[in-house]
This record gives sequence, structure tokens and C-alpha cells, in this order.
Amino acid sequence: MRYAGLVERIAGKSATAWSVHYQALARAAAGENVIVLSVGQETSETSPALVVEAGIDSLRRGRHHYTDVQGELALREVIAERHSRTAGQPVGANRVSIFAGAQNALYAVAQCVVEGGDEVIAVEPYYTTYPATFTAGGASLVAVTTSAADGFQLDFDKIAAAATERTRAIVINSPNNPTGAVYARPTLIRLVEFCALRDIWLISDEVYATMVAPELMVSPGGLPGGDKVCITVSSVSKSHRMTGWRIGWVIAPETLTEHLYNLAMCMCYGQPMFTQDAAVVALREADALAGEIRAKLQKRAALLVPELRNLPGVGVFSAGGGMFMVLDISALRVDAAQFAQGFLDQHDVSLLPCHGFGEHSAHLLRISLCEPSGRLSAACDRLRTYIAARGWESVEVIEKKGVRFI
Ligand code: PLP
Repeated sequence: MRYAGLVERIAGKSATAWSVHYQALARAAAGENVIVLSVGQETSETSPALVVEAGIDSLRRGRHHYTDVQGELALREVIAERHSRTAGQPVGANRVSIFAGAQNALYAVAQCVVEGGDEVIAVEPYYTTYPATFTAGGASLVAVTTSAADGFQLDFDKIAAAATERTRAIVINSPNNPTGAVYARPTLIRLVEFCALRDIWLISDEVYATMVAPELMVSPGGLPGGDKVCITVSSVSKSHRMTGWRIGWVIAPETLTEHLYNLAMCMCYGQPMFTQDAAVVALREADALAGEIRAKLQKRAALLVPELRNLPGVGVFSAGGGMFMVLDISALRVDAAQFAQGFLDQHDVSLLPCHGFGEHSAHLLRISLCEPSGRLSAACDRLRTYIAARGWESVEVIEKKGVRFI
């Protein structure tokens, strides 16, 4: 039997990037004491009790029928109000579309704005699913690299130089997964101006927006000219410990929202009422949780940085946002995937090698800060032992300038 060309485009590194992680999960499920630091999820925590109760109560009230395909009005209203307030971009519920998590929202956006022959610029390292998401419809992904030496900040001139007449969209993610980099306002102002001038969509993936001090978070939709060109994607997955509820959204101009509605009609026909009801309660009554999670993650990063910093040949980057830290092991002259596999096999700790985050990221390892401090410290000890036993030569000290250490 034959398959559509799409199956090739959605396979590849995005799909295989999680190999070490899935091995770790399988071993943990089999009862082994594996420290899983390869996923951005507080696995040992649950969603807030009032959110769980709201979901159950909704089901009991019979809220399990077909829904508004664009999303329940109450949820769209609370998202619109929250975004207007935090991003400084006044939007109404008519511009919000609900999807099954930010991932589904990104995919829906990609289907509506890019196609064969188009180019999408992504800032590398980028979230592993971006290549499949943005090339599924036939567009190509153009990676613009960032470097540890510059704190993984995006370089406007590099992006502008990479843009061609085929560029239809630029996708950014701040705070970034995996680096934690938070993009600066002046750069984003230039980027929005550029997109407006060149008729390019700016897709802003803000799933980690609450994982940085509010005064540092800049949502480009709220910048001058941003309302017309920006598409904001976010979810309650990380901010409210609701990864499995699959509630995400798109905030977009009205016409794109109409197209997204048509796509939702033929793709999912709406999201469940009871998960949306629970998300309303999360956003209305449990928004303080995001601050608590942020404080906890930053405390853990502060604990880890000194422990990891003294490892020979390892650069440690903790840029202050998001759920992760990044290790640069290029000085050890070993591929990160090989390093991570050996570490899991010998020391029962899973780190995520970043080869799925872009061609130029195979020397990076991502460490999730979502596990309790004790387990993070134990993982650091094992990392020290692993590196010492392998006797990798520390050929050079990684340059760390420009990176703000916590
Ligand atoms: N975007 C980024 C940068 C992510 O890290 C993730 C999940 O880890 C997603 C999108 C998907 O989020 P969701 O769970 O809401 O689909």
C-alpha cells in the first residue's frame, strides 16, 4: 500500500529524539529506580485539586456533549482577558481558538499559514516537534542558530539575513525549550517591525511564559504592529500542571481564527467540555500556582548550577526561564546522544540529548528541573562519576560569557 509524502516529513529526528527518554520510562515502569530528567513535566505532582474537582463536577453535570468547535466561550473569555492583561494586546474571545494542547495548536496554525514551497524560520535550538509540525504541509524549515556564548539570544540580523521572498513565518519560543533563553524586548520590537514590513507571520510559542519573572516576559503580540502579524500559542500544560488535559490555544487575527475554525471542524470538532471547564477554573482560580512553580524551578536551578559548573569540560547554561538547563559537552568530544545513552545505561539517569532540537545542537544535553532537589543532586553526583570514569579529556573550557547564571 502507498502512503502520502507527509509520512516522510513527520518522521525523522523529531520522532526519534525521545529514544533515551522512552527507555528510561520503560525501565521506571518496570520498577527500576531511574531518575528521569528528560521531560518537561512535574511527574511527581498532580494538577491542582480544585481543577480536578472542576473536571469531575463538569462530567457529573453532564457536560460531555459536542462543544463549540472554536472552544467554550467561558474559556475563550478568560484566556482573552488574561492575554490582554499580561501581553498588553487587547483581544476578545472571538480571537481565541481552543485546541488539544499547544502542540495541536501549533500544528493547526502551520496548516493554515504555510504550504509547499514556503519557508519557515525557526530559532535553533528549537522544540523537537517544530520540523515535523511546520514541514508536514510541504514547507521547509530554515534554522537560524543561536550560541551559548550569546546566552542563546536570538540575533535579529541573522534572522533578517535568512529571510527570503519565500519566508511565510518565523517561529519563536521564549522562554525557550531547551535553553531557557528569554528574548529581549528591543530584539522582538525589531522582529515584529520586520515581519509587518515583509508580510511574514510571527508565531510565538509561549507555553513557558509563566516560567520567568513577569517583567521579563515579552509577548510580541503586544508590541507595536504585533496585533496584525503575531500568532500566540500557549496552553495550561506547564503553568497549571495540566499536561494530560490537553488544553491549548491560539490567539490570532480574526481571519486566521476563521480558518482555524474550519480546520477544527474537519480535524477534531471541538475539545471536551469538561477539560475546558477545568481549564477555566485553573486560569481563574489557580493562576498563583504558576508563580509557585517558577520559584521552585529557579531554586533548583540555583542549586544545580554550582554543582554542575565544576564538571570538567562541561558548560552549564541556565538562562533564567523555562523548565530546563542545558549542558554543552562539546569539549568532551562525544556525541550527546551517545553520552546520554551511556549515562542511562550505567547510572540510571536520563538526560535528553538535543540532536532533535536542530542540526547544530548535537553537543547539548537538556536537564529538566521538574524532579525534586534530592534527585537532581543525586543525578549530579552520578554525572561527576560518569565523566571521571570515562576519563574524557577536558580539551578546552567552554566560553560562558554573556550568560546570566542564577
Ligand atoms: N511548545 C514547546 C516549546 C514545548 O516545550 C511543548 C511541550 O513540551 C509544547 C509546545 C507542547 O505543549 P502542550 O503540552 O501544551 O501541547
